[in-house]
Amino acid sequence: MKKTYHGSCHCGTVRFECELDLSAGTSKCNCSFCTKTRFWKAFVVADEFQISRGTDALSDYRFGSNTIHHFFCGRCGVTPFGSGEMEELGGKFYAVNVACLDDATAEELAWAPVTHEDGRHDRWDRAPTETRYL
Ligand SMILES: [Zn+2]
Repeated sequence: MKKTYHGSCHCGTVRFECELDLSAGTSKCNCSFCTKTRFWKAFVVADEFQISRGTDALSDYRFGSNTIHHFFCGRCGVTPFGSGEMEELGGKFYAVNVACLDDATAEELAWAPVTHEDGRHDRWDRAPTETRYL
């Protein structure tokens, strides 16, 4: 069941809230960005996501095809979420950094199913051969 979660960067300048069901699944990927940021994500449709404060502090990093906005706080450097637009994901979406959810309990995080994606080879529909380090 979806519930409202509140999230933030490390310094608290950037805050957001979203509707999310962690038991519906999360994902980790081995692409060059996710590997270096340890990005653990859950997808949220745009109308169930809201930046509560700190929009001005967000920096927008893009690479490759430039289609995904990898936002990070310009003060503390933490990446609370990214965004993009993909038909497969229902149009505009946010990829929330699960590790930045302040009110997710340890139990909710522990029980959240994790799907692994082989983003390094643009094979998002399958897991890489090694996932234990992700
Ligand atoms: Zn910050």
